Amino acid sequence: MVRKDEILDLEITGMTHEGMGVGKKDGFAIFVQGAVDGEKVGVKIIKVLKSYAVARIEAFIEKSSHRQEPFCPVYKRCGGCSLQHMTYAKTLAFKRQVVVDNLARIGSLSDVRVHDTLGMAEPINYRNKAQYPVGMGKSGPVAGFFARRSHEIVEAPSCAIQHPLSDKAKDIVLGYIKALNIPVYNETTGHGIIRHVVTKVGFNTGEVMIIIVATKPELPKANKLIYRLKRDIPGLASVILNVNPKPGNVILGDRNITLFGKDTIQDTLGGLAFEISPLSFYQVNPAQTEVLYQKAVDYAHLQGNETVFDLYCGIGTIGLFAASRAKKVIGVEVVPEAVEAAKSNAKHNGIENAEFYAGLAEEVVPELYEKGIKADVVFVDPPRKGCDENLLKTLVDMAPSRIVYVSCNPSTLARDLKFLTGSGFQVEEVQPVDMFPWSEHVETVVSMSRL
Ligand code: SAH
Repeated sequence: MVRKDEILDLEITGMTHEGMGVGKKDGFAIFVQGAVDGEKVGVKIIKVLKSYAVARIEAFIEKSSHRQEPFCPVYKRCGGCSLQHMTYAKTLAFKRQVVVDNLARIGSLSDVRVHDTLGMAEPINYRNKAQYPVGMGKSGPVAGFFARRSHEIVEAPSCAIQHPLSDKAKDIVLGYIKALNIPVYNETTGHGIIRHVVTKVGFNTGEVMIIIVATKPELPKANKLIYRLKRDIPGLASVILNVNPKPGNVILGDRNITLFGKDTIQDTLGGLAFEISPLSFYQVNPAQTEVLYQKAVDYAHLQGNETVFDLYCGIGTIGLFAASRAKKVIGVEVVPEAVEAAKSNAKHNGIENAEFYAGLAEEVVPELYEKGIKADVVFVDPPRKGCDENLLKTLVDMAPSRIVYVSCNPSTLARDLKFLTGSGFQVEEVQPVDMFPWSEHVETVVSMSRL
């Protein structure tokens, strides 16, 4: 249909779920990075595969009115953002469409109500957690972000979606590495010490945690680094050495050594205090997290007499949000450290009707159900791979009156909704929320009830 290096005019008629423009030549799909639907572009084919080709923009013939100049100087190379060439309003419409498409194609749910994506008033500096890979560049050590589809490190003086203190901490660590000749990690040989700088910022408390991920349990001249961090990072509350000697893409290892300050930091959400530790999951966009949780709790229609399950509960946030409106909350989470944090979060907030269990939701929930412990309302908030079918089967048997599904992956969401709608539940409303502005990711809350 098309051949490599061919140059042609292309009308962009759709978008992939990663945000690439799609055009067709004689019915054959051509994906174009950076093109927006509705545009006409001149492209050069750079790769031809069995069912599609990939092309690069050579010239614009007709630009979309939804196009904007990306605000980041390294946007084209960095793998972090993928939608900065579109207006914010357009990215919100795009994300809604991704949800609609997945529900229809995978979930056979074409007639459900999908609201407009809830976006941010000011979609910048929204992230409370940054992860900077550290490595060797052409002229010395570098820290930044991985390039798109590669492990080349792109340096960015500042990143507009991060909290400014995160960038500052990264610069301080890089300065220490350079000044004291601390060896940086080499992914190919496994040699070197420092692999990543991870930062966590409590937006509402101002507390900052800096995690240095290293291959060894001691950091050379650590006191020099800590001094610089203490001097230049206001709110510095914790410096952690995380030990990760294993090769591979997992950023954090299991072992944490507190080099300075506390083992955890605190943040508040919706008037509740939460403890944040190096390994436990905490939503990365605190402003939108409140929007998301509020929606989730609204969709639960709690009256005050319900037993509520909060599955995949992390540090217990959703369940603790709902606790004042329910009789009892039971949270389940696989990371033991997060479960401990959830318990202490309940305690510190004076919440006495919540309990938490460590384990896989697909194992713990069937055990609870066998013991006769049932939920009236269930929240599920699984990772990208969605819910285990064994969990969904147990929920169908348990027959709660409502399920609120919070999802970070529309395709596994659609798969799981197909299962639930085929087994006695109906979808009432679907609300996409923009938790990750300028990336292609979309968070979705779904309100379901038993038929
Ligand atoms: N609801 C929480 C966390 C959501 S992220 C919040 O809003 O902050 C998903 C969580 O599921 C993570 O904490 C992860 O550790 C946990 N998890 C992943 N697989 C799991 C499983 N099979 N059973 C229980 N928890 C799991």
